[in-house]
Amino acid sequence: ESGNIIMDESAIRRALTRIAHEIVEKNKGIEGCAIVGIRTRGIYLARRIAERIREIEGNPIGVGELDITRYRDDRPVNELPLDGIVCRNGDTSFDVRDKRIILFDDVLYTGRTIRAAMDALMDCGRPQSIQLAVLVDRGHRELPIRPDYVGKNVPTSRHEQIEVSLREIDETDCVTILHP
Ligand code: 5GP
Ligand code: MG
Repeated sequence: ESGNIIMDESAIRRALTRIAHEIVEKNKGIEGCAIVGIRTRGIYLARRIAERIREIEGNPIGVGELDITRYRDDRPVNELPLDGIVCRNGDTSFDVRDKRIILFDDVLYTGRTIRAAMDALMDCGRPQSIQLAVLVDRGHRELPIRPDYVGKNVPTSRHEQIEVSLREIDETDCVTILHP
């Protein structure tokens, strides 16, 4: 197995700064917006984006977390019961009802996780709209889902794997493509 670094610390930082600006531009500010990170690494990305947006706009933006309980990256999402998905509050005032929700995940692949996340979000209340941001889009969609904000498009083969390391849990910021 071999690997190539496709985003280093600076590339990740710049991509997140760009996405923060794109979110503010597309939504004409952040009024009524909230960011929801998906499980482990999407949550750290969501927090970083929220911090950038606070710097840009001077106002805080709500951050929530979607946790797909018992979910494992090597198990198909469609085997999992939807009641295993919970919406946790980053802060007590967090509420998806009538919000413009920006979902954030690290890697977008078939789209099945995002479909499940949208179902989970709908169970938490009716958002006004849902947008999608990902650090890496590696292709191979099996559902009609496309991201609104992309850090980097990385064409991959199905055998390749993207490794996302974030300093909050991995001690370093980098994205690597692993070739089998
Ligand atoms: P999907 O549900 O779109 O097939 O896969 C997306 C989910 O699985 C994301 O939550 C993502 O974290 C994980 N995932 C899928 N492919 C990869 C990959 O190549 N690398 C990493 N790090 N995660 C992946
Ligand atoms: Mg993931």
